[in-house]
Amino acid sequence: YIYLPLIVYKSMKPNIVVPPPGPKSMEIVKKDSELLMQSFARWYPLVVKRAYGVWVEDVDGNVYLDFNSGIAVTNVGHAHPKVVQAIKEQAEKYLHYSLTDFLYEEPVKLAEKLSKITPGAFPKKVFYTNSGTESIEAAIKTARGHFRGTRPYIIAFAGSFHGRTYGSLSLTSSKPVQRRHLGPLLPGVYHAPYPYCYRCPFKQRYPECNMWCVDFIEEWMLKKYVPPEEVAAVVIEPIAGEGGYIVPPPEFFKRLRELADKYGFLLIVDEVQSGMGRTGKWFAIEHFGVTPDIIAVAKGIASGLPLGAIIGKAEVMDLPPGSHASTFGGNPVSCAAALATIQVIEEEKLLENATRVGEYAMKRLREMQTEIPAIGDVRGKGLMIGAELVTEKGEPHIKLLQLTLDTAFKKGLLVIGAGQSTIRIAPPLTITQEQMETGLSILEESIKEAQRKL
Ligand code: PLP
Repeated sequence: YIYLPLIVYKSMKPNIVVPPPGPKSMEIVKKDSELLMQSFARWYPLVVKRAYGVWVEDVDGNVYLDFNSGIAVTNVGHAHPKVVQAIKEQAEKYLHYSLTDFLYEEPVKLAEKLSKITPGAFPKKVFYTNSGTESIEAAIKTARGHFRGTRPYIIAFAGSFHGRTYGSLSLTSSKPVQRRHLGPLLPGVYHAPYPYCYRCPFKQRYPECNMWCVDFIEEWMLKKYVPPEEVAAVVIEPIAGEGGYIVPPPEFFKRLRELADKYGFLLIVDEVQSGMGRTGKWFAIEHFGVTPDIIAVAKGIASGLPLGAIIGKAEVMDLPPGSHASTFGGNPVSCAAALATIQVIEEEKLLENATRVGEYAMKRLREMQTEIPAIGDVRGKGLMIGAELVTEKGEPHIKLLQLTLDTAFKKGLLVIGAGQSTIRIAPPLTITQEQMETGLSILEESIKEAQRKL
């Protein structure tokens, strides 16, 4: 099955043989609820048996089209043969040794490659982690440490998601449940509202607003309660992921970069979800023509093996020996998977495909919008696309979102939400236009059917 030629998958349609969740899925759902802490917020009970390319099969034999990519991870498609091969070859050599005390070649080769594909022509250095949240922890520590204790504060954005460990959670602010009963968090983190033009937190209109969201940081935060000379960094997602697939206005990052330069703090971008080709460029910040000081990545970097990294200006990445390390960070098998992933993105021209199929999807969603007024906003870059569902009054339509996703699942399309009521479209970058059309037609039917069920 796994080795069926790709052409078969290219013409495949979803195939629901048992109404999901089927009996085998339900058995695992039951055991999962008994044995695993239920701190996740799952959208529907998908129980995966195997996955290949853009297709996912559940334990009851249903085949789904995947608009999730294991949440923006399997950018080159599930179980890409070249990635699987690289993992096998490396696993047969050795599985682990630890960069904390020793050296091996794979992380060095990968660092060379990451330095080339990230924006900025200056010398760079890399630090490896195992996940997105750890990349953000590493970025916070690097920024504070770089200034040797003179700049303890961090500016982040309300509406963002940066992870769930204590440092990154202190920056995260997309839903109260992420923080409820879990405080106190890291002190010295200040939030400005995320530039979300569809629902501007300042109730302004773009472009007449003249980018008040940036001026607010300078004129209010830095003049009234955050001493600018004590700020180490501003940390931001170039496109908000978990918070609702929100694309800031074009000149936002140039203005933010100017602010960082004026007051001497670092610009750190969290590309954990938006990076590794997802938006049709290697990194989403490239759409805004701005070069950050540090880029945090994870998710798509190694196609599903645990790996994260921060890539930054060499002069900034200067934490002293003993101050930061990770036993598994830079694991050789994960690094081999990452090198193969990058190679596949290049060889299969997946940035171009993400741009092309992404443009098609945006156009198709905008057409849908004329017929379905509940689609309040369509936004995105490449294959990071959000469609926000709204009530007649324009409020977030949370119930319609849940019903739509559930209906799509039952019809063989895997898609989840972001923010309060946004459909999150993040398929593998290998998706063809035909497959995208299949998925969008199911989505359209699902929204209409969900509206009838309301
Ligand atoms: N940063 C962003 C932008 C993310 O989307 C996520 C996860 O969704 C994280 C950080 C945290 O990554 P992880 O779940 O690997 O810790």
